[in-house]
Amino acid sequence: MSPLTGAGEQRGAEVIDEDGDTVPLPMIPSAGDPEQPSDHRQQSYADGPGRPPFGPILKKVALGLAICLVAGAGYAGLQHIANAPADPGAPTAQQPPSATPTTPDQAQAGVQRAVAGEAVLQKMADAIENEDRGEFLNTIDPKATAFRASARTIFGNLSALPLGTFQLRYVSDDIGALTPDRQAELGGTQSWLAQVEVSWQLAGYDVKAARETLPVTFVTRDGKTYAASFSERFVAGQRRPVWSLGALELAKGKHSLVISLGAGSEAEAEARSYVSVADKAVESVSKVWGRSWRQKVVVYLPAKQSQMEYVLGARPNTYTQIAAVTMAELDTPAVGAPVRIVANPKLFEELGKQGRRIVLTHETTHVASTATASPVPLWLAEGFADYVAFNAVPVQDESAAKELFKAVRAGHVPASLPTTEAFAASAKELPQAYESAWLACRLIAEREGEEKLVKFYRAVHASKSSTGLADAFQSVLGMTEAEFVAEWQKYLERLAGG
Ligand SMILES: [Zn+2]
Repeated sequence: MSPLTGAGEQRGAEVIDEDGDTVPLPMIPSAGDPEQPSDHRQQSYADGPGRPPFGPILKKVALGLAICLVAGAGYAGLQHIANAPADPGAPTAQQPPSATPTTPDQAQAGVQRAVAGEAVLQKMADAIENEDRGEFLNTIDPKATAFRASARTIFGNLSALPLGTFQLRYVSDDIGALTPDRQAELGGTQSWLAQVEVSWQLAGYDVKAARETLPVTFVTRDGKTYAASFSERFVAGQRRPVWSLGALELAKGKHSLVISLGAGSEAEAEARSYVSVADKAVESVSKVWGRSWRQKVVVYLPAKQSQMEYVLGARPNTYTQIAAVTMAELDTPAVGAPVRIVANPKLFEELGKQGRRIVLTHETTHVASTATASPVPLWLAEGFADYVAFNAVPVQDESAAKELFKAVRAGHVPASLPTTEAFAASAKELPQAYESAWLACRLIAEREGEEKLVKFYRAVHASKSSTGLADAFQSVLGMTEAEFVAEWQKYLERLAGG
């Protein structure tokens, strides 16, 4: 699995309702280039030609838009961030960062700023650890009224989260980042922006700490240095910690922690309702995958699309069509990285109960099988995730493989298992890619038994060799990939023909 490159994956499907009827649903058009805004596509999703609107009118419909993105690295590194041009959407910082200090005096001043900044960060981290709100607020600029309000929220969030560890580390001085106007506004004897590495671990859920880089604005006045902002000059691809985006509500289940953005009883009730879905998803995954994983999932429920984009470090409107994303919250994809399922607030609302279960089971399969740090080809990762999801929530073939069957009936039997490119958000035949991957996995389970499918997945996953897939075909299934493909093609023709 490659690290995050901005590629998204999506699929459209129809889900049987509780009475067993199948209601055709609009097929979602491809999401297109994730770099491009996709307002028009969102439009076509919500108001597709000739389609009735979603909502309570279609009580029988549960839309299964089982989409995921396996996300690893959000950015190339701290230096990259320090040197990157500012996010055009950011409120300040029109200037490029200036060059590294060259004179001894400049270097000395940089060291002094780092020492002052580091001391503020240490006090903050201590205050979080000691749950000392007063001490935390003492580190916040008394003149930064708006930031003081968000600092109170941040402190409340961090107190509510089951934090195992919380650390702040001063990484790099970004001295050219603040405009003269902004510096004048901040006042004091000096002000500057620094990149700060924040690492935080959810006790009981994370093996390794999550890690993000936060731009922290510092100001020194009357000989004392304070933090004056956590949000100036974010750059493209820079992820923001969920606890910095607004008030959180938490709900804990047997296997899940749901973190909902949006304060109040409504957000709390929503978080609780997702806990039961997530708990069920974990049970469904363990039934197939086994219990040799942590059996814990952390689900983020942003209240707004923009919050989802902030958490993922995505450009605006990249994920308008992505129902949920499985993301490693670390700068390098690695086994043991903390993994989060990030829900798209708008699409999750529209999915309905069954659809949400399918999506969460699909994403939870990625979590259990550590798909964010796995060499398995995408057809196997996605096909297996759908196999588990559709096992948990049965869907009629005719609905779940609609686009693929249409193609097969028109004589277009896939020539090979779907390639990595076939799962890009902009891929034209994305639904077919998911559908054919799902049926490849189902064929293995039908032919050899479910345990063999899991064994096959694990063999490819554990392989360090470039021939891992071919080896697993031979050692687990006793055939070559070409032999399997021939059988799978016949299987698809039989299913579509029937
Ligand atoms: Zn997926």
